[in-house]
Amino acid sequence: MKSFPPARIRNVALVGHGGAGKTTLAEALLYCSGAINRQGRVEDGTTTTDFDPEEVKRGISLSLALAPFEHDGYKINLLDTPGYADFVGDVHAALRVADLAVFVVSAVEGVEVQTEAAWRIAAQLDVPRMIFVNKLDRERASFERTLDELREKFGAGVAPLELPIGEELSFRGVADLLTDTAYFYEGGPDAKGRATPGTIPDDMADREHTVHDNLVEGIVVADDDLMERYLEGETISPKELEDTLALGVDQASVFPVVCGSAVKLVGIDRLAQFICEIGPSPQRRPPVKVRAGDGETEIASDPDGPALAFVFKTVADPYVGKVTFFKTLSGTVRPDAQLTNPRTHADERLHGLFTMRGKEQDTLSEVPAGDIGAVAKLSDTGTGDTLAPKGTPVVVPTIQALEPALSIAIVPRSKGDEDKLMIGLHRLQDEDPALRVSRNDETKQTLLSGMGETHLSIVTERLARKFGVEVNTEEVRVPYRETITAQAEAEGKYKKQTGGHGQFGVAFLRVEPLDRGAGFEFVDKIVGGSIPRQFIPAVEKGIAEAMATGGVFGFPVVDVRVTCFDGKYHPVDSSEMSFKMAGSLGFREAMAKASPVLLEPISMLEVVVPVAHQGDVMGDLNARRGRVQGTESAGTGEQIITALVPTSEVMRYAIDLRSLTGGRGRFTLEHDHYDLLPSHLTDRVTKAMAESAK
Ligand code: GDP
Repeated sequence: MKSFPPARIRNVALVGHGGAGKTTLAEALLYCSGAINRQGRVEDGTTTTDFDPEEVKRGISLSLALAPFEHDGYKINLLDTPGYADFVGDVHAALRVADLAVFVVSAVEGVEVQTEAAWRIAAQLDVPRMIFVNKLDRERASFERTLDELREKFGAGVAPLELPIGEELSFRGVADLLTDTAYFYEGGPDAKGRATPGTIPDDMADREHTVHDNLVEGIVVADDDLMERYLEGETISPKELEDTLALGVDQASVFPVVCGSAVKLVGIDRLAQFICEIGPSPQRRPPVKVRAGDGETEIASDPDGPALAFVFKTVADPYVGKVTFFKTLSGTVRPDAQLTNPRTHADERLHGLFTMRGKEQDTLSEVPAGDIGAVAKLSDTGTGDTLAPKGTPVVVPTIQALEPALSIAIVPRSKGDEDKLMIGLHRLQDEDPALRVSRNDETKQTLLSGMGETHLSIVTERLARKFGVEVNTEEVRVPYRETITAQAEAEGKYKKQTGGHGQFGVAFLRVEPLDRGAGFEFVDKIVGGSIPRQFIPAVEKGIAEAMATGGVFGFPVVDVRVTCFDGKYHPVDSSEMSFKMAGSLGFREAMAKASPVLLEPISMLEVVVPVAHQGDVMGDLNARRGRVQGTESAGTGEQIITALVPTSEVMRYAIDLRSLTGGRGRFTLEHDHYDLLPSHLTDRVTKAMAESAK
C-alpha cells in the first residue's frame, strides 16, 4: 500500500454492542471503496475482519482487527472491535489509537449496554465520536426512536446529518440535511452501494425542513460570525457548515449521526465521505502526553520529528511468530529502523513493515506519523509499550490494566504437556493484556483469570489450536486454612531401631491459638539440654513442614504458637532427621487435640451498579453471607457498594452480576483477610475436599 501524508489519514474505530453490525459495516466500507471484490457475510464466516477460527465459529468478533482502505484519496485505517463485555480490553486499545470512533447502533435494538460502556471509554480518552444508525432495512427499525435514545443517553451534542427515506422494507435512501438532497440506493447489487441523487420526497419535506433548521442552528452557535450572518438571513453554504461541524467533532462536543444499512449498502459511501471530510486527521488531535524521565512532555504528530511508536496490539501466530501493531505518534518509521523499548531496555530492529487487512499482509515502505503499521518478530515488546530512538527514554502512558473478573483452573489432558502448556500460556498472555496466568501453591492449581466465561473458553480453544495443548478445566479450589481454638500438649516421639544405627528423638510440644494473621510462632523453652541445641532448629522445621502440608482437614495451618518445653535424646541415635520427625509428629497430635477449625478467605468486593439495581445487588450479597461496608454515589446515576464477602461465595460473581444487572454492573475483588468458617459449613467443605482428592 502506498504512503499517505498525515492530513490524508483517518484512524477510525468501529465500536458498539455485539450484533449491531460493526463487522458487516467494515465489510461494506471495504466493498464500496473497491478494496475487496466480494461482500463477505458474518453468517458464512467470510468477512475480512472476523477471520480467526474462534470468531468464525461463533460469528462474533473477539479481538480488534485492522482493515485499511482507500477512499477519495484518503487512507482509512478501520479498526473493527469486539462488542462483548469480555473483550472490552480491545475496545480500549482501539480507542487509544483511533482519531474517530464510529458508534454502530442498531435501529432495531437501539442503544445497548456495550454501546454505553464504549461511550464511557471514548469519553474518558476524549476521542471524537460519530454514530451510524444501522439496520434501517430491518423489521421494527426506527430512526426516530433510536435518535431519541441517543439524545437521552449522550446529550445534546448528538446531531443528525441525515434522515432515512422510508423504513423497514421500504427503506431506500437517505436525505442529506446539510444540502437538502435525497440519495436513493435502488441500483441493486451492481451499483455496489452507489447512490442516485434526487429531490426529497414530498411526504417528508416538512419534517426535513424542521430538522435541517435545527441542525444549522446547532452548528452556527459555535461561531459568532456565522451566527450573525445566519440571523441576518444569509444562507450559509454546506461547506462552511461542514467546516464548523468538523471543529465540534474535533473537540468531541458534537456527535454527528448518519444512517443506513450495512447489508443493503445504503449510506455506506456517504459514511466514508463524512469520515474523510469531518473526521479529524491525526494532526488535528491534541499532542500526545508522554513521560520523559520524571517529567511530562507533549509530542505532536509530525512526520519529520523523532520517531515514536505506540504498540496497541500484539498477536501470537504459531507460524509467523509475534506480530506487533503500532501507531506512529511522531516521525516516520522506516524498514530496518532501530528503536528502543524503554520498558524492557531492548533494542528492537523493525525489519519489514506491513499493514494487515484482516489476515492479508500488505507491505509498507514507511509508516509516517499518524499512520498504523505492523512488524513481525519483536522479541521484547508487548501491548502498551513505546518504541523510541535510542537515548530518548520517553514512554507513552500504558493501556490501563484490566482487573480480571473470573478464574478457572486448568490441567493438561496429557501428562507431559506441562511445558508446552506454560509456553503457550505465556505467548497468549503476551497478546492479551486481560489474561493472567498464575499458580496457587496452596491449592496446587494453575489458574487462568480473565474477563468472563467466553474469554476464558476462547483462551483454552486457542491453546489447543495454536499450541497443540488440550486442557481440562476444573472448579477453582478455595484456599481454606486451618487453625486451633484451644491449647493442647503432646509428646512427639520418633524411634527406629533397625539393625545398626537407629533414630531417636522426643519433643514435648504445646500449641496455643494466635490472633488472625499472626502466622506461626515457635518458642524454645528447652532448659538443661533435654534436647541438644543443634537439634532445636530441626524441631521447628518439622513443625513448619507439618503446618504447610495440612492439618486435620488437609489445609495449611496458620495462627498457632508452638512451644517446645521438653524432650529426650540419645547420644548415638539422635540426629536432625529424628528431631524433625519428632516435631512433625508432635505437632499433628497436639493440633488434633486443640479443637481445630477451618478458616475461609474473605474478599473485599466493590460493585458499581446503576441505582435501579442497588436493592437487588445488596439483597444478593446478603444471601452470600456478605457484610455491606458502605454505599456511595458514583456521580453518574450509579452507586458504589463495598462489602466483605466470603471468597467461596463470589468465585463466579462475574457471571452472576452480569445476569443480575443485565451487564450494567462492574466489580473488583481483592483478598482481604481470613475468618472462621461457620461450623455448619465445615462438613460441606471437607466433603468437597474428599471428593476432589478422589
Ligand atoms: P457486530 O457484532 O456488531 O460485528 O455485528 P455483525 O456485523 O456480526 O452483524 C450481526 C448480524 O446483523 C449479522 O447477522 C448481520 O448480517 C446482521 N446485520 C448487520 N447489519 C445489518 C443491516 O444493515 N441490515 C440487516 N438486515 N442485517 C444486518
